[in-house]
This record gives sequence, structure tokens and C-alpha cells, in this order.
Amino acid sequence: EQEVTMYRATREITIEGHDVPKPIRIFQEANFPDYCLEVIARSGFVEPTPIQSQGWPMSLRGRDLIAIAETGSGKTLAYLLPAFVHISAQPRLAQGDGPVVLVLAPTRELAVQIQQEAAKFGSYANIRSTCIYGGAPKGPQIRDLKRGVEIIIATPGRLIDMLEAQHTNLKRVTYLVLDEADRMLDMGFEPQIRKIVSQVLIIFHLISFTVI
Ligand code: ADP
Ligand code: MG
Repeated sequence: EQEVTMYRATREITIEGHDVPKPIRIFQEANFPDYCLEVIARSGFVEPTPIQSQGWPMSLRGRDLIAIAETGSGKTLAYLLPAFVHISAQPRLAQGDGPVVLVLAPTRELAVQIQQEAAKFGSYANIRSTCIYGGAPKGPQIRDLKRGVEIIIATPGRLIDMLEAQHTNLKRVTYLVLDEADRMLDMGFEPQIRKIVSQVLIIFHLISFTVI
């Protein structure tokens, strides 16, 4: 118990809420699939970042969470790796199924970055992801959605277009991430976010704020 307190203190991890699980100190503690651990090792990562260390045990238990950490602190993998674990526990994708994981992000650039990270890990487990954003032709995005994906990473406006045209649906979404939620709110996306979230039946919430 005292060790946990020390661990958090030295990494400046502060927590709020009830029954917060103890942080995961080494990657192997997190019961991630082997391919994830291999990619981590190949990337040269030595230890979980603080947001991963405290965020992983929360999301792996299916807890809702608001996580706040500075830019470059590994928030993407903090929510993506538990998302892979969650997907692996679901029935395989069938014809016409929508995604299990939905990540909303404020900009096309961020969405593309997240998707690259998702693809890096997902390719080993045949977990498919796609990026849905405005200012680009719809054709290829529709094609990807029709083919079926476990993970959608989207900016809110274009996702709503795709939902209204019934190119995908959110019926299977049980893991929802609002990446850079503070920025999305600053950009005035709240009505769109509410509209999207209202279509998610069971919410596994994970909100990620970036402090600049
Ligand atoms: P954030 O979203 O917090 O701004 P990112 O998730 O984009 O940060 O991560 C920033 C960089 O850190 C990425 O290149 C990522 O691959 C790398 N990274 C992630 N986790 C670790 C880790 N445990 N150790 C070292 N580098 C990491
Ligand atoms: Mg980020």
C-alpha cells in the first residue's frame, strides 16, 4: 500500500474516485496479448508512462475514466491497448456489423495519427480500423465501413454524415473514447458529440483531456 503511494507520488499521479486500482508498473502485468507486448518491446518502450500505468487497470476493468496528462505522455496507447483486449473478448465481426470501439477526435491530423497507432498493433490480430474525417472524398471511407471495422476513429461531423446515410451504425459500440475532449468542446463539437453518444447503447466511457 505504501509502495503504491510512493509509486504514484514519484510519477505525480493524482487520482480521484472510488476503488481506484493500483497502477500497473510493468507492461507484462497488464495481460495484453503477446503481439502487443512484442510491438512495445520493438518500439523500445522501457516502462508504462504514468497515464498508462494508472489508466490501464481502470479501462481493463471496464471502468469509466477521465484521464488528464500532458502532450506526448502516451495517452493514445493508454486507451488503445485496453481497446484491443476488449475487442478480443467480443464475437468476431459479422456482415453488416458496426464497430466495437469508437474514438472521437477533434481534427483529421489527430485522427490519422491515432489510426496509424491502431493499425501498427491491430495488424497482428487482424483487428481492422479506419479513419472517418471531413474534407476528403467519402468514397474510400464508405468502402472501408462497408467492409467492416472493429475500430472507427472519427471527427464528429463526418461520422454523423456516415451514420445518417447508414454506412455504419453504433449498435455494437461498447468502448468509447473522446480524445482531446477539452479541445473538441472548445471547437464547438458538443452538439455533434451528444448526437453521436445518444446512438451508443451501452457506454464504456473513457475521456481523454490534453493539458497544454
Ligand atoms: P499524447 O496523446 O499523450 O500526446 P501519444 O500517445 O501521441 O501522446 O504518445 C507520444 C509518443 O510516445 C508516441 O510516439 C508513442 O509511441 C510514445 N509512447 C507511448 N507509450 C510509451 C511508453 N510507455 N514509453 C515510451 N514511449 C511511449
Ligand atoms: Mg493524444
